[in-house]
Amino acid sequence: MDVKIIEMNERKCKFILKNSSPARANALRRTILFDIPKMAIDNVEFWLGHADWGNETNTPLFNEIVAHRLGMIPIPTDENFEVDNLSPDKDYRSSAIKYVIKENGPKIVYSGDLKLVDGPVNVEDKSLLEIRDKGIPIVELGKGQSILAYAYAVMGTAKKHIKWQVASGVGYKYMPVINIDDGEIDFVQDIAKSCPKNVFDVKNGKLVVRDALVCSLCRTCEELSGGSVTVVGDSSQFLFTFETDGSLTAQQVINKAVSILSKNAKKVADDVAAL
Ligand code: SF4
Repeated sequence: MDVKIIEMNERKCKFILKNSSPARANALRRTILFDIPKMAIDNVEFWLGHADWGNETNTPLFNEIVAHRLGMIPIPTDENFEVDNLSPDKDYRSSAIKYVIKENGPKIVYSGDLKLVDGPVNVEDKSLLEIRDKGIPIVELGKGQSILAYAYAVMGTAKKHIKWQVASGVGYKYMPVINIDDGEIDFVQDIAKSCPKNVFDVKNGKLVVRDALVCSLCRTCEELSGGSVTVVGDSSQFLFTFETDGSLTAQQVINKAVSILSKNAKKVADDVAAL
């Protein structure tokens, strides 16, 4: 199984999985979706007041709704964090990132109002744990309304809850293989124009492939050309795309997914060998 990166930026990745099979491609898709660990807010304490702050938490929303919204905010995640606090026996405070939100109305409270209090002891540069997406609305406070809450982010995976899902839009398609029989084709301009993905160009009166990667395998060109153009999906190569929520970079997600898949495959091989 080889990976060729087509496009990679902080939050988005497009790559070709080569020398593979539909089963492996689907295993990679499911790993990226469900097995990549990340931090998410899992526990919120709403305070009725504070010694140095006279106001009480009093928002127009139920606390459960506010807590749910806080849970969906992307939390910066160090790829070396361990999923060691999923056990109900663990005290979540020991390995959590702690944030506080302390605001008075009238105002809209955004994710950027979550201020870092402390992080796990093994993180030296705590500023890396500041919330990066600062514009996510949480609650609108009216005049005389306030919120004081402490939020604890812990590691988890999307197998337990969707708030721990790093990647979205995880999908793949078979790599399109387009063959053109030059000698037989009439109406090349019509065929080029009929393609909804603008795959073709016409050069010197001939139909040529401009960008096969964008082909959706709809086969319109096959029908229009009477079979002189053929399009098939290669079941050993897959064009993958996914985006992250910013908790981890796209590069970190792909690295982690490949590492988890290899570890799982080795475990299965060891288990089978031990039978
Ligand atoms: S199969 Fe559809 S998308 Fe692909 S080249 Fe033909 S017309 Fe275009």
